[in-house]
Amino acid sequence: MKILKTIQEMSVFSKKARRDGKSIGLVPTMGFLHEGHLSLVKSALLSVDLTVVSIFINPAQFGKNEDLDKYPRNMDKDLALLKEAGVDVVFAPEASEMYPGGFITFVTPQGGLEDVLEGEIRPGHFRGVATVVAKLFNITEPDKAFFGQKDAQQCLIIKKLAHDLNFSAEIVILPTVRETDGLAKSSRNSYLDAKERKAAPAIFKALQMAQHMIELGENDPSVVTAEIRKMIGRTKLLDLEYAVITDPETLHPVDSIGGRALALIAAKVGTTRLIDNIMIER
Ligand code: AMP
Repeated sequence: MKILKTIQEMSVFSKKARRDGKSIGLVPTMGFLHEGHLSLVKSALLSVDLTVVSIFINPAQFGKNEDLDKYPRNMDKDLALLKEAGVDVVFAPEASEMYPGGFITFVTPQGGLEDVLEGEIRPGHFRGVATVVAKLFNITEPDKAFFGQKDAQQCLIIKKLAHDLNFSAEIVILPTVRETDGLAKSSRNSYLDAKERKAAPAIFKALQMAQHMIELGENDPSVVTAEIRKMIGRTKLLDLEYAVITDPETLHPVDSIGGRALALIAAKVGTTRLIDNIMIER
């Protein structure tokens, strides 16, 4: 497994691979890998010739008061997991490599998807995400890029980015990998203490309850979100930020539920912000 730290090395590798007729799959991550990340890696390994995993904690997507400095890291463990999985290349640049002095050009999604939900609570977050993903696409020239449905809003924005800026990469979205009690796997789960960890699965339980209510015929989103609020409200240590039932493509809240809907929750567990979502089909 090659470990590349510079854009130049990564770019040379990708250009040679393309000349040799090999397809490239990119799995962008911020490291501290778990089975959610590894499911994307496995999918890439099965569908392309060469799998590139990027490990980069992207400062541009963190707000001033967010957890950039304390974001969990364990490069040695990540490299061991990726080597064992059979990954071809890890691209792990420093922040100064991706954003050298004088960097001024950002990709800013505009049109609505970026300023609701996560975008409303984390202004500038998706500008940072779109910028780094565009850079990674230019550097690695992937045929396919793999993302997790856990970050549903990010998936929609990246699909738009690829389409709008004419990246040829196919965007592959894979299901959320969960702990046995339903909690979505996340690097940020490592912030939870024992009591918080016990409380956190209530987020997914509330989503499942919403799914159940809708499957049983409830079509008023405000009735469903009121139940979610109640359930999260009675769980100690949990503080709901939003619970919405939206159109899965536009993320606009729906007035009435019919067909497919996406239920999304963001909540604080102690001081840790967690997000999750569930696609509901009827
Ligand atoms: P992150 O390192 O958190 O930026 O995540 C890197 C990629 O892994 C993103 O595409 C995430 O959506 C995806 N991912 C994170 N957690 C999960 C999970 N529990 N299941 C599936 N994919 C995930």
